[in-house]
This record gives sequence, C-alpha cells and structure tokens, in this order.
Amino acid sequence: MPDNSIQLVALDMAGTTVADGGLVLRAFDAAATAAGIAPEGPERDSARQYVLDTMGQSKIAVFRALLGDEDRAQQANRAFESAYEALIDEVEITPIPGAAEAITALRAAGIRVALTTGFSRSTQDRLLKALGWQDIADLTLAPSDAGRGRPYPDIVLTAVLRLQADAVDRVAVLGDTTSDIATGLAAGARIVAGTLTGAHDEAQLRAAGATHVVPSVAEFAALVLAEHP
Ligand SMILES: [Mg+2]
Repeated sequence: MPDNSIQLVALDMAGTTVADGGLVLRAFDAAATAAGIAPEGPERDSARQYVLDTMGQSKIAVFRALLGDEDRAQQANRAFESAYEALIDEVEITPIPGAAEAITALRAAGIRVALTTGFSRSTQDRLLKALGWQDIADLTLAPSDAGRGRPYPDIVLTAVLRLQADAVDRVAVLGDTTSDIATGLAAGARIVAGTLTGAHDEAQLRAAGATHVVPSVAEFAALVLAEHP
C-alpha cells in the first residue's frame, strides 16, 4: 500500500495554538478609533461584526474592505499592530492547553509543522517570543511571507513548497475560523479541521466545509497521528 500519510501540518496561531483572550477585538477597537470610526453607534457595531466574521484573514485586507481607502486602511493597520503588540507585553500570552505538546508529538513522528497567522510578521514574531516558541516549529509564516493572506491558499502552499511536502493531499490544516477552513480547502489539503478554542463555532466551521471539527489542537494531533504509520 502506498504511504499517503500526512507529512505537513499547518497550524493557525491566535485561537488555535495561542489563547487570544479577546486581544484582537481590543486592538481592533484602538484601530477603529485611529481610523475615525465613532466609538459608539452603528458604524462601530457593524465594523466590529465584520472583524468577528473575517477573523483569521490578513488584517490589512480586513481594514481595506472596511475602510475602502488605502491611507485609512494603512493607518488603521498600524494602530492595530501597535495596540496588539502593546497588549502582548501587557498581558500574559498563554498557549492553548496541550498546543506545545501537540507540536512536539507531531514533529517527533516526522511530520513537519508550520505556524501560520493573519497578523503581520512583526506581530507574529512578538507572539512567538512571548511564548518562547521561536524554535518550536519547522516554519512560521505571516501573509507577507506568502503573498496573499487567508482565505487564499498562499500560506499553506508556501508551507508545502518550503517544507517540501510531496503533494497537497498530504497536508492537514487546523484553524479556529472559517477563513482558515477556506484557505485549507483552496490549498487542496486532505484534512481541513476546525477547532473550538477560538473565534467561530462548530456550525460556522462545518458550514465553511471543515472536514473535521475538534475540541482543541490536542485532539487534532491525535487525529493526524492516528493515521500515521
Ligand atoms: Mg485564529
């Protein structure tokens, strides 16, 4: 029987391997204020809902869609990044329970692990440093490392190329948002799983086409390892 086991796992960070604790929404509020959106009222409410719905996507793309103006989008994105990075320093950033162990177990089984994000590279680096995770994975990717962010397939396909998986159907993707699911499906991954430790619920993840929904990254690792020879 040919070995068709999973060779590469792409794991999202915030909400999937890293506890978010509402930091994205707090940073978004700072960004919305910087972009001139009134602090209360329908414009702020609908912007907040849009951010929830598009959680996981490249943040600059979200601000472009929301503000429709490149200068305002860049300004909002800078405010978001600086607010989020300040929050990283202010609060204790913790992994989702079992995340580090899951990554270690996957790599010990010979599976390559990429950590992916919709944040900028500098925010991702701050997050990795806060966790002491600079060397935990085989590869870490932000949208700017790949081309387009989620929901496009670029991040997962970049991981396939950089980590030399044999085929896209030997890839498993895990994320907490519908954007993660869309990315995994667009990239042709065989396992495109949603996790319930972050932004979106089981119904949303299933509607987006998730092949599996797991309680957390720990069960996801068990699922991938179960089919490993
Ligand atoms: Mg996420």
